[in-house]
Amino acid sequence: MTSARTRDRLVRRLIDQGIRSAPILEQIRNVPRHLFVDEALASRAYEDTALPIGLGQTISQPFIVARMTEALLAGFEGQSVLEIGTGCGYQTAVLAPLVKKIYTVERVRELLTKTRQRLRDLDIYNVKFRPGDGWEGWQKYGPYDGIIVTAAAPTIPEKLLQQLAPGGRLVMPVGPPGRQDLVMVVNHPERFEQVSLGAVSFVPLVRGV
Ligand code: SAH
Repeated sequence: MTSARTRDRLVRRLIDQGIRSAPILEQIRNVPRHLFVDEALASRAYEDTALPIGLGQTISQPFIVARMTEALLAGFEGQSVLEIGTGCGYQTAVLAPLVKKIYTVERVRELLTKTRQRLRDLDIYNVKFRPGDGWEGWQKYGPYDGIIVTAAAPTIPEKLLQQLAPGGRLVMPVGPPGRQDLVMVVNHPERFEQVSLGAVSFVPLVRGV
């Protein structure tokens, strides 16, 4: 169920859906998604679907991970990425080899402990973790060339826009449950350009820790 054939099928599916970046497709093929879900769900790990990971949270659908990563990295010349909503770390693991450094914030401390160990086991070392409220971003290491948020907010948090470097990109789901839109924001000299990338369904970006 976790064989090369199963993974190839997933990658072909993503290509059919319009994912073009070879390095990102390679990451989707290589990252062992079955290690990010409960053993009981391992046989479904290479289906293109979101799955529960406990504590009411989910692991994102591979297509959406690929789509968000592609949007974030298109024209990316930067070094540092801020990620909000670490969860099980699947998105983090797909992105990590493609950027210099990831700073990731998760409000559920218990998830973060497991995820930190899981990424270490996969020899991923360019990630710095913080338990905290993603609405605040992570001022200390900003501004960031890229910001990726994997939980939906009714509006884009102001603090995140403030922590976006000139020319940087932010990708996140915005809107109420059932009507979320994946949004990309580019920080131009005089304005923020906002582009819609289509409908998505994420758990909410909760306020506070
Ligand atoms: N990135 C994950 C999916 C995460 S699901 C993956 O690749 O599978 C969304 C995550 O956002 C959950 O773990 C949830 O606990 C976290 N979250 C929700 N509100 C948050 C907040 N205000 N600050 C930080 N993390 C938050």
